[in-house]
Amino acid sequence: MKPETVIVNAGRDPEANHGIVNPPVYHASTVLFETLAALNGASGKDYRQVVYGRYGTPTTFALQEAMAALEGGDWAITCGSGKAAIATVLLAFLKAGDHVLITDSAYQPTRSLATGMLERFGVETTFYDPLIGAGIADLIQDNTRIVYTESPGSITFEIQDLPAIAEAAHARDAIVVCDNTWGAGYFYRPLTLGADISIQAATKYIVGHSDAMLGVATAREKHMDRLWHAFTTLGNNVGPDDAYLGQRGLRTLAVRLDRHHENAMKVATWLSERPDVIRVLHPALPDHPGHDIWRRDFTGASGLFGVEIKAADDDALAAMLDGLELFGMGYSWGGYESLIVPCDLSRARAVTPWQQEGLLLRLHVGLEDPDDLIADLDAGFRRLAAAA
Ligand SMILES: *Cc1c(COP(=O)(O)O)cnc(C)c1O
Repeated sequence: MKPETVIVNAGRDPEANHGIVNPPVYHASTVLFETLAALNGASGKDYRQVVYGRYGTPTTFALQEAMAALEGGDWAITCGSGKAAIATVLLAFLKAGDHVLITDSAYQPTRSLATGMLERFGVETTFYDPLIGAGIADLIQDNTRIVYTESPGSITFEIQDLPAIAEAAHARDAIVVCDNTWGAGYFYRPLTLGADISIQAATKYIVGHSDAMLGVATAREKHMDRLWHAFTTLGNNVGPDDAYLGQRGLRTLAVRLDRHHENAMKVATWLSERPDVIRVLHPALPDHPGHDIWRRDFTGASGLFGVEIKAADDDALAAMLDGLELFGMGYSWGGYESLIVPCDLSRARAVTPWQQEGLLLRLHVGLEDPDDLIADLDAGFRRLAAAA
């Protein structure tokens, strides 16, 4: 089946729920057993066994099944945030004495998890150039257990050569993890390109409406045992209402992402032609680092990208941003609405220092009319120039 059809149907079973289209929201801690034998037989090791609220309910199982179908995996875990899913994956596969390779373009809180808690637990981290490709082989040590990728990278949007990285990692028995929040399983499916585990901050495009926190990690059966064990051990499951919002948001993922792609391309192209813009960081623009790999491995581009504008002082920047009417300022992204934030990479790169002349902004282009968004930005640039 085509992705659009999977997105609409996966994980739903109306026949099991009185014909109701969406899965019911089960609020549960205690689950009652009829007999001692049934009580003793319940293990929580079966992914869909209803044992105790923490292990999940048909509400979370429905989302897990749907996300596994979307990503091309066998099953998924659902956590209370993207960050919780990342932590669960890393803790599932790492132990003291292990080494992990993390792309230098990783989401900043992922880096601080590695350099903070993982280091305290005796795990060594090496950051690598996101554009390293097959060259990753030179960095793999005997104790390298995970090669962590994120494509495109946070803030700078480099596209990684996942098949080449996976081949080198698997030759040395390391597993490959990919943060797939940007591609969302619709534009990018890492499990089909060699990754062992695909993680999404489903808070972003899966939920899609800026009203819930949700993290998902999807794997093939081969790795599910360890992942499920860490998931239930850490007690990281998402609550029923947020799981429900995740599965509801999922149903419109394809139409939303196609529109994010179209709108963001229009805004990015307009920005790239402005004299007050130094460069636009968007994987679908031909001069972008890894653009050829994006064309090979992705089927589209989502709404998040970067723009470097000619340096402005704080007052001029405030004049530009404070007056925007359609772009909100705030963290996260992936909802229907447009957002803008200035970015600071000074603490976020270890081996690929960011050469910056101007000021970096991250835009999330939402589902508004792109001409209205362009007019809002255009007025912002005029305020910037007037205040400079
Ligand atoms: C937001 C984000 C996360 C973390 O997700 P939360 O749900 O906010 O914890 C992880 N990776 C990427 C790329 C993100 O943008």
